[in-house]
Amino acid sequence: MSNSNKNILEVTDLKKHFRLKGGAHVQAVEGVSFTLREGETLSIVGESGCGKSTIARLITRLHDPTAGSIRFMGVDLLALDHGQMNAMRRNLQLIFQDPFASLDSRKKVSYAIMEPLVIHKVGDSKSRWETMQRLLETVGLEPDAANRYPHEFSGGQRQRIGIARAIALEPKLIIADEPVSSLDVSVQSQMLNLLVQLRQMFELSYIFISHDLAVVKHISDKVAVMYLGCFVEMTDVDTLFETPLHPYTQSLLSAIPRPEVGERPERIILEGDVPDPSSPPSGCRFHPRCPKAMSICSETVPALKDVGNSRHVHLVSCHLCD
Ligand code: SF4
Repeated sequence: MSNSNKNILEVTDLKKHFRLKGGAHVQAVEGVSFTLREGETLSIVGESGCGKSTIARLITRLHDPTAGSIRFMGVDLLALDHGQMNAMRRNLQLIFQDPFASLDSRKKVSYAIMEPLVIHKVGDSKSRWETMQRLLETVGLEPDAANRYPHEFSGGQRQRIGIARAIALEPKLIIADEPVSSLDVSVQSQMLNLLVQLRQMFELSYIFISHDLAVVKHISDKVAVMYLGCFVEMTDVDTLFETPLHPYTQSLLSAIPRPEVGERPERIILEGDVPDPSSPPSGCRFHPRCPKAMSICSETVPALKDVGNSRHVHLVSCHLCD
């Protein structure tokens, strides 16, 4: 689905450690690296608290990383000052899980969509109003939505407003953080279709964050599976769904109903909860819950290695792939 060989985003060895009261550190993101090409969609999938939303906030500099580098459109984002980063945000927009929280309930929808244009001094009041009307139509809302307030809309319609606001400045990259997880299943697929259409219309690249592998299957070019701050598997979407190699990925996939092939494969139920990220397990962080754990797994950290072939990259961190 990607349409360019040019990287729009290069993230290298990104780390974020939060300091807790009492001095302990939470390793929210621990050495994550990836690239995103122009027009490509990378989905980052994992359980709540695995660090995937922290990556979104690091790339948009809502948090500053502990270590690592982020190059966006060839620019080192971490070298930018506050003003330069604000200017860069024109090209780099976030869509949130709860659009209601990001919309001012006292302001009309027209204000919400035109505000980014005002902040970045794009056009005059007449052209902003025309752009806003065009955006409402693009995301499937009636023109009279402009004069109403966010609370007058359903969850799906509010997400459409949030999307119109995000694309107002014609960004290059959108980071969508669980954009459909609070919506009904039927509305979810409408919203995913809209995001796919907008990608083609505006030549967007996406980072799509979700706890649900099933949601990302039809919109992704590649998928990274994240566990306790680290990527444990990353490859193209077809390979991940057909040949998952990491036991954690296998357990996530086993939970997805597959009506097209009749019975789903045997469900792999993981034992226990996600460990405390302030004291992650030794060796492979997944070993206390892994149904295939071996003695080496609690002692040695498995490297993230490419086990793919000349046609595709398939990165996995598991001693079973050594
Ligand atoms: Fe399981 Fe060991 Fe592989 Fe970790 S390294 S996923 S514990 S088999």
